[in-house]
Amino acid sequence: MFREAHNYFLKLNLTVLATMGILLAGCGGSPEAGTQTSEKKVVVCTTTIIEDLCQVLASDTLNIRGIMKAGEDPHIYELTPQDTILISSADLILMNGLNLEAQMGNVINKQAKGKVTKLTNDKRIITAEEEDGAPDPHCWFHPEFYKIYLEKARTALIEIDPDNSERYNNRSIAYAKELDDIYAWGKEAIAEIPQERRILVTSHDAFQYLGQAFDIKVAAVGGISTETDPTPQDRIKLETIINETGAKALFVESSVRDSLNTMIKQIAESTGAKVGGELHSDSLGPKGQGADTYLTMLKHNLSTIIGALK
Ligand SMILES: [Zn+2]
Repeated sequence: MFREAHNYFLKLNLTVLATMGILLAGCGGSPEAGTQTSEKKVVVCTTTIIEDLCQVLASDTLNIRGIMKAGEDPHIYELTPQDTILISSADLILMNGLNLEAQMGNVINKQAKGKVTKLTNDKRIITAEEEDGAPDPHCWFHPEFYKIYLEKARTALIEIDPDNSERYNNRSIAYAKELDDIYAWGKEAIAEIPQERRILVTSHDAFQYLGQAFDIKVAAVGGISTETDPTPQDRIKLETIINETGAKALFVESSVRDSLNTMIKQIAESTGAKVGGELHSDSLGPKGQGADTYLTMLKHNLSTIIGALK
């Protein structure tokens, strides 16, 4: 903890001059002064998935700012001083909640001056649990739960920008329809894979809700969070699952630490299963590579799973 705090303040000192420069250049006004977005309210989104959802609803009406970039891991992300400035300047912060944004969440609790909406904070989202009883935060992978994210984001946007409520309502309806279509396609395609082959083995435990939604059994190397390295016991546990169930493939993930993905590759070698491809879990893929929106990411993941398990 001490070392993290030390690094944080070191970074703060190194960037303080640059930050002052930006503020001075803006003549003491907001960082957006002089640009077209100066009149727009600022919405800060924690993950790339939430940022995409917000862009779908309000790309032309609000100043949407994402904290994380593609490929970054929210469980271990360390905020920069600029992120902290952004957090305190936001009119609205949209976040996942359920401790997905571990360190980031603590700073948001302390520094946010605008409204904060946790998109999982809804009775209709029935959370799955980890072995230690903590709720699993990866609820966006169940399309029905993601529709609740959509609804809550829309409601929060309307609260800070009621003049555009009709726009947000219409876009939300159109998006829900697109989501329904992908959900229906995915369920149908996965139902064609024999049940005993529908086993998903990944590097961190992010896919319980995907498993629920699409009727796939799920096992992972790491826990729900990626903060700790996998243990030799984790590896033995997974090898046993693979040998007992005859799982055909294991999957690496784009946003987790290398040690988790390395272990997946080793387990594949020792059990004779194959590496079925790369899934996106807690972050979207890079721009222009086929998984840079929630909908294309879900499609990419489902196609990868179907291709490897069928
Ligand atoms: Zn995760």
